[in-house]
Amino acid sequence: MSEENPGRAPETGASSHAGSESGPSTGSGPRPGGRPPGGPGGRPSGGAGGRGKFFRRKKVCKFCTEKIDAIPYRDVRLLQGFVAERGKIVPRRLTGVCTTHQRRLTRAIKQARNIALLPFATRH
Ligand SMILES: [Zn+2]
Repeated sequence: MSEENPGRAPETGASSHAGSESGPSTGSGPRPGGRPPGGPGGRPSGGAGGRGKFFRRKKVCKFCTEKIDAIPYRDVRLLQGFVAERGKIVPRRLTGVCTTHQRRLTRAIKQARNIALLPFATRH
């Protein structure tokens, strides 16, 4: 058993001696970036309430108010108020129609579609 050692010298490439040079910072003295005294205490109160001008849309069923029991499917102008542009029936939440009349309205719209008074929903 003979071991030959090539005899390499381990090179440690630590040759650059970078000394950290930093000026002595003295904490004493006035700081350049100090806060201005006095925090933001008062808010700039402005705006005299822009809301309130819109007329509150009453969410009352139109047919109930007008006492329309049976919705005339021939009344296209009436039905079109509850049909979107694409022919979709506007949901009840948007129109404020009560459940009973919404169902009748749906039937009326479908009837109107069948006799081609109203367009069907456009296919995508
Ligand atoms: Zn109603």
